[in-house]
Amino acid sequence: MKQTMKILSKLPDTGITIFTLMTRLAQEHQAINLSQGFPDFDADPKLIELVNNHMRLGHNQYAPMQGIPILRQRIAEKIQYLYQAVCDPETDITVTSGATEALFCAISAVVNHNDEVIIFEPAFDSYLPAVRLNGGIPVFVKLRYPDYAIDWDEVKSKISPKTKAIILNSPHNPTGTIITGQDIKQLQQIVQNHDILIISDEVYEHIIFDGISHESLLRYPDLADRSFVISSFGKTYHTTGWKIGYCVAPRLLSAEFQKIHQYVTFASNTPIQYAYAEIMEDRGHYLHLSLFYQQKRDLFLSLLQDSRFTPLPCHGTYFQMMGYSGISKEPDTIFSRRLTAEYGVAAIPPSVFYHTNDDNKVLRFCFAKTDDTLKKAAQILCRI
Ligand code: PMP
Ligand code: GLN
Repeated sequence: MKQTMKILSKLPDTGITIFTLMTRLAQEHQAINLSQGFPDFDADPKLIELVNNHMRLGHNQYAPMQGIPILRQRIAEKIQYLYQAVCDPETDITVTSGATEALFCAISAVVNHNDEVIIFEPAFDSYLPAVRLNGGIPVFVKLRYPDYAIDWDEVKSKISPKTKAIILNSPHNPTGTIITGQDIKQLQQIVQNHDILIISDEVYEHIIFDGISHESLLRYPDLADRSFVISSFGKTYHTTGWKIGYCVAPRLLSAEFQKIHQYVTFASNTPIQYAYAEIMEDRGHYLHLSLFYQQKRDLFLSLLQDSRFTPLPCHGTYFQMMGYSGISKEPDTIFSRRLTAEYGVAAIPPSVFYHTNDDNKVLRFCFAKTDDTLKKAAQILCRI
């Protein structure tokens, strides 16, 4: 369509996301798509049947704005069981249209003009635009390469009277690192004398390896008291396309959150909420997920053992970072395009997750794929 009128963009530096870009490129070249994070296998047929059942039962109109009560109840039970945290499903939980919506609502609820927000880089791509749209000022702290640990001294040095929030993500996308008990102590010390809120993106809470427990902020009452803890059913039930997530926050924070949520989307998909509520009765699904993905990580790593890619440690998520400096000196954005177009395997160049486009010559590969897909991809990667 022709358009002559000019508008002043609110996000002048933002283009289409790397996930859209790489998936499109993978499709164009019929490449194996290990770029955008999503499973190439189906959800449990029982879950699909449950959604169908609830549609047939007539659960097809608007859900309550905060989410259906039985699903909020199940989420509260899970949180109590896993993290020994008591939260009130009436006031502290909001079901959202994916974690992306929850992140946007949490950031919009608390970030005012000129508020500073600490963002660790590399950072999942939705944080920065949400901060900017609300007039916030991003304050970047880089995770230390190559272990991607948090430098808490640097965080301390960047706290100012204007710091409104810290955005945390563990298990971390794209690096696969996790926060530890030591990190929690440092965080507690830093925030205790400040009015700093925390937005904790825990969408990979059930995908954590080698017997390590997930350090949800919900385990720590002093931190939970100032946090929005966000998760996603898409990651846990192999249903990224259904876009249902949730946010747990104390009553007053949840109330502010819901003021935004009710006008971003009002309510989220009704029959899918009923289906998740029912499948959550069986804890096995989320309790076995870590082992399921650990086997995939290990398979992928063993298949690439004789390749010229060098793995970085991966403790959680379904992403494996791989160094390629033994293969090419090209920037990761160029190398990932060539890998897709010439060899037929798509991966994500993590430099796009830094505002300074730091290029460490690594690529992010998604291993949420059938063993067959991983084997085919590895065969190609081993030839390079
Ligand atoms: N945060 C992180 C770190 C993610 O990897 C994702 C997955 N895209 C999201 C948030 C968004 O989750 P959802 O698909 O439920 O919106
Ligand atoms: N979370 C997914 C990833 O990191 C993709 C999210 C998206 O496509 N927006 O690959």
